[in-house]
Amino acid sequence: MAQIVIKNIRKEFGDFTAVKESSFTIEDGEFFMLLGPSGCGKTTTLRMIAGLELPTSGEIYLDGEEISQKPPSQRDIAFVFQMFALYPHLNVRKNLSYPLVSQGMPRAQVKAKVEEVAGILGIQDILNRGVGGLSGGDRQRVALGRAIVRDPKAFMMDEPLGALDAEFREHMSEELRALHDRMNATTVYVTHDQLEAMQMGDKIVVMNNAVVEQFGTPQQIYDKPATMFVADFIGSPSMNFLHFDGSVAEGGTNVDLGGQSLGVPKQLQGASGKLVFGVRPEHITLSDSGSYRGEVIASEYLGTTQIITLDTPNGEIKARIDSGQVARTGEKVGLDFDPRTITLFDAGSGQALR
Ligand code: ATP
Repeated sequence: MAQIVIKNIRKEFGDFTAVKESSFTIEDGEFFMLLGPSGCGKTTTLRMIAGLELPTSGEIYLDGEEISQKPPSQRDIAFVFQMFALYPHLNVRKNLSYPLVSQGMPRAQVKAKVEEVAGILGIQDILNRGVGGLSGGDRQRVALGRAIVRDPKAFMMDEPLGALDAEFREHMSEELRALHDRMNATTVYVTHDQLEAMQMGDKIVVMNNAVVEQFGTPQQIYDKPATMFVADFIGSPSMNFLHFDGSVAEGGTNVDLGGQSLGVPKQLQGASGKLVFGVRPEHITLSDSGSYRGEVIASEYLGTTQIITLDTPNGEIKARIDSGQVARTGEKVGLDFDPRTITLFDAGSGQALR
């Protein structure tokens, strides 16, 4: 059992604040992603959970026990680094044994544990090989093995696949997720890659500029973004933002956008001020009757779908439509937006209106 509760943690480095009051809970057995652009504070957050940095204020609990100021050795949390440090002069078996031998575990027990972990990772055949000549994938597996042998309560991973090429990275990410599902150990994983976070994570924390923008399942974050930052960061192509000034008529079903009408969900009627209408490319359909119109200015063929770029009264937007549909460059088309899928934002704060 390893539940991790983060309560109002903050980290300052001198005058600079790397993480502002952040709170979220990582449930036992979850594959938990810390996602955000470079410099947003995700590595600092991970290091505070592992004890490699101490929070300036706030608390961290592991299974109900406060660990905020404890050294890493007293936390029972394993950290898997991006630059996985293996002992280059030792073979695989000795690399895996080392953490156990240094704990004083008896030899027979070490041997049994190393073989069990090698079995989990599928590296029994290379136990006697030196680590120098191993492939990237095997090095990664040995590095993971070194973290697993100690049976820690939780694993911290900082962009563990960051150095790998795209194809291999995808293969290793599937393997990592499958390994997690076999072991069910709480894992916290840092990435700046939204697709990786969406594919691998049970839950995601999206960070930006030292703050948590949103915390939820991949589906909650995709379908109900809490802020314009999250809406823009998640999904490819990103959500379209149509800016408008005014109010969403009470009792009406449409909002006036550049002289055209768009449907909005009932609960948002009455919103006013500088507003932004957010719609994902796959929620726009071409329709002859659509009163909102745009001119096709580009299209990109993607097999079963195509992405078309349209010039509208509110600027350029992108729509994902069936590749069988004809949308010629220069053609003016009517557009329909499914009101159930739109998100309305306050332009000033960037917060979603619900
Ligand atoms: P990246 O993916 O680039 O590592 P990140 O989201 O993991 O980004 P952090 O490494 O947590 O970001 O860094 C957040 C900010 O804190 C950065 O501006 C970084 O320069 C700063 N920072 C991190 N560690 C220190 C430190 N020891 N001293 C001073 N500033 C630091």
